[in-house]
Amino acid sequence: MSHPTGKDPSPRSAAKTKTRVAPTHRCMLRLEVIAAHRLSEHFLRLTIGGDDLADFEYQGWDQLFRLFFPRPGQTGLRMPSAANNGWIAQLYLMPVTTRPHVRNYTVRAFRAAQRELDVDFVVHGDGPAATWALAAGPGDPVGIFDEGTMYRPRQGAHWQLLVAEESAAPAALAIAEQTPASLPTTLYLEVPTAADILPVTLGPHVNVRWLPRDTADTADTMPGRLALDTVSHATLPAGHGSVFIAGESGLATGLRRILTSQHNIPKQDITFFGYWKHGRSSLG
Ligand SMILES: Cc1cc2nc3c(=O)[nH]c(=O)nc-3n(C[C@H](O)[C@H](O)[C@H](O)COP(=O)(O)OP(=O)(O)OC[C@H]3O[C@@H](n4cnc5c(N)ncnc54)[C@H](O)[C@@H]3O)c2cc1C
Repeated sequence: MSHPTGKDPSPRSAAKTKTRVAPTHRCMLRLEVIAAHRLSEHFLRLTIGGDDLADFEYQGWDQLFRLFFPRPGQTGLRMPSAANNGWIAQLYLMPVTTRPHVRNYTVRAFRAAQRELDVDFVVHGDGPAATWALAAGPGDPVGIFDEGTMYRPRQGAHWQLLVAEESAAPAALAIAEQTPASLPTTLYLEVPTAADILPVTLGPHVNVRWLPRDTADTADTMPGRLALDTVSHATLPAGHGSVFIAGESGLATGLRRILTSQHNIPKQDITFFGYWKHGRSSLG
């Protein structure tokens, strides 16, 4: 697995056992913030929209995209235009005074008729994206570039396991919502505090285990550790599984190692994705 903060910022290289479905038609979409809504102390939802969303190919699941937003002090948003990965070179050729920031985010919900999509940001207090989202309001320019999906439930799986900390909560919840009723699913969702347990409507085939760090009997507050420890000691069902692990890099790589070595889950049944790395800023 490579990390999105590494040299190649493409999520293509993010998971070896991926089932990536790339969009067939990708272009830079120029949108704007429609509304901001604080979901909890550590989650903020921005609804973004605009006519360009007519060109957006919604796939659901953990659909991810590049989010472009202005740096502090920039007026307006300059975006690269290349429709393929040429945009990365184009971005770095821009002078830093006009170059936008770019980060990876997940489509939490999409409403085609209204030409709107929701993005749920973790308010982690230390990063350009989190800071920008907190200050964003209606009319602020934003851009997106669709990257497709990394995960679909494995064909023939008897059960599904989804494990995430807060940065991958939007992906894990979107997957859980779209999972067919025939696939029993357990979702372990670590969040900073008990007040970050979000109201969710999921089918009876989805068993959600919220793991708030603030009430956990552990001194380790590093995001992802609680989920890693909890799932490491869980009893997993028999039969073929379909596993999605995402969040801080240590959770993704550490839990995959434990599931393969101690729980005998075949590597090809696990999609794992380090969304960010503790102490390292994303590129761009
Ligand atoms: C495919 C994909 C989908 C993603 N979807 C979402 C999503 O829907 N919502 C979401 O909130 N995030 C999501 N992320 C994670 C997000 O891209 C990173 O958290 C990103 O680093 C945030 O950028 P930033 O500018 O706020 O912080 P950065 O400049 O990247 O980092 C600044 C500092 O903050 C730390 N940091 C970064 N993220 C976190 C965090 N979540 N908690 C605590 N410390 C952090 C870094 O280690 C660094 O020390 C996704 C990542 C990927 C790869």
